[in-house]
Amino acid sequence: MKLSFFGAAKLVTGSNYLLETNNHKILIDCGLFQGSKAIKAKNYEEFPYKPSEIDFLLLTHAHIDHSGRIPLLYKKGFKGEVICTNATKGLCQIMLPDSGHIQEMNVKYKNRKRTRAGLELLSPLYTIEDAYSCLNKFTGVQYNSTIKLTDSITLRYRDAGHILGSASIEVWVEENNKQTKLIFSGDLGKDNTPIINDPYLFKECDFLLMESTYGNKYHEFKSNSTERMFQVIEETLSKGGSVIIPSFSVGRTQEMIYAFNKIETIKEKWQKIKNVSVYVDSPLAISATEVFKDNIESFDDEAKQYILNGDNPLDFDNLIFTRSTEESKSINYNKNPKIIISASGMCDAGRIKHHLKHHLWEKENTILFVGYQAHGTLGRLLVDGAEKVKIFGETINVKARIEMIDGFSGHGDIENLDKFLGSFTKKPSIVFLVHGEIDQLNGFSKRINEKFNMKTIIPDIGECYEIQSVSDKKTIINVDRTITDNTYKRLELLNYVAKLKEEISDITELISYDVINKLDEDEISKTIDYYEKIDDNISDLITLVEESKNE
Ligand SMILES: [Zn+2]
Repeated sequence: MKLSFFGAAKLVTGSNYLLETNNHKILIDCGLFQGSKAIKAKNYEEFPYKPSEIDFLLLTHAHIDHSGRIPLLYKKGFKGEVICTNATKGLCQIMLPDSGHIQEMNVKYKNRKRTRAGLELLSPLYTIEDAYSCLNKFTGVQYNSTIKLTDSITLRYRDAGHILGSASIEVWVEENNKQTKLIFSGDLGKDNTPIINDPYLFKECDFLLMESTYGNKYHEFKSNSTERMFQVIEETLSKGGSVIIPSFSVGRTQEMIYAFNKIETIKEKWQKIKNVSVYVDSPLAISATEVFKDNIESFDDEAKQYILNGDNPLDFDNLIFTRSTEESKSINYNKNPKIIISASGMCDAGRIKHHLKHHLWEKENTILFVGYQAHGTLGRLLVDGAEKVKIFGETINVKARIEMIDGFSGHGDIENLDKFLGSFTKKPSIVFLVHGEIDQLNGFSKRINEKFNMKTIIPDIGECYEIQSVSDKKTIINVDRTITDNTYKRLELLNYVAKLKEEISDITELISYDVINKLDEDEISKTIDYYEKIDDNISDLITLVEESKNE
């Protein structure tokens, strides 16, 4: 059989793997590429296989970088079944239409500009409609049950401890009278993540596809992150300030609600927090919380115990959900100290921007980050200590206290991933390392070789591996790199050139005499620095191309 890597290879987004057996074509995940413009451009490339020929899609979990291209796959002719856990199905029912909405909004904005410039209009990657239409392809399954998918393929979904519904998938393939077992780890969480079960520990397989996000990193402050969070909140409330928590709508927000609910049961400590209003201001987070409540069979024992005791672990007295825009606005009219949990987690979109605008300039308030902040986002600027930021075109002084609590990551670190690998009594013949940046992949690979004595491969995007079972136990591998020819890279280069052209025209439009007059000395020097860097790079590029032209 063949295994190809079409996303999240030497990258953390766009998860997409293709397993081809004698009789079937099966995809594992079909996620959106997220991040820089060049990476996002991959979403617009044709799928490197015919979507109409795919029989099944096995989905590890609902995060958009794993599920976000399913509506597109469907739009391009996929007619098969999407198989995932019941909770993942529930979350996709809200997250994929939300993603469709974002896709539509993105082009709406660009098209307004293009209409004025007389350019051809863009169409969205997919629409809300497309997203709704593909949802009837989803089949929900239960954790730990064995599913006979076809005569030759059997599956089992196990807890991955990453978000509600997340799974590692076991796949058994019968081919040429031999059985081969593959495990797709999906994104792996940590032990003791609130609400959900710990990652399942496997004993054996022939081939393992393993995520590597933090393959070479330890998380700081793992054990006491909730305690630290409450401490910061108490200090802020004591000064009469409010706490703004930018949080991912699915998973992290529910984890926060769960933590606040627990406080209710700890009567003596955290008196101030107990009496203050906690707002969850994100329609997606509110819908996701409903999905959580519908899937209590996926909860861990502790969360189930709350329910048995008559407590809803995702609700408490002073919790207020604000769905409508009016409700959202009214939060900021009321000047009493409060806690606001809102999205997006990295502050680059959504209602959180309004709350930052209203709270950043007052020193009594705290902005409390509980998730990863990528380069280039407003959240990252704040975490890095920006003194002024621009929100909705307005310059805002940053006077509030900025705190980052690192311990809430949804991904396991070295300790967790090593525990996962250490549980194998029959070692996989090959561990394919995916879903990681290159430094994490390299460090992880080296450690796996040395510590676990397992063979590793870090596949490139577009690579195809022919995997075979030879004799009874040994499994060997033939590598077929034919799919990775240079065409792929060449196309990518053309993409960059087109993007650059667009970006330069954007800058030309943006930087007028008026705008330059508004910049202060510092901003002018920074802008000049940027230009010099760009200029240097472009000169190097021209030299390189000119030289090869003359060869
Ligand atoms: Zn994930």
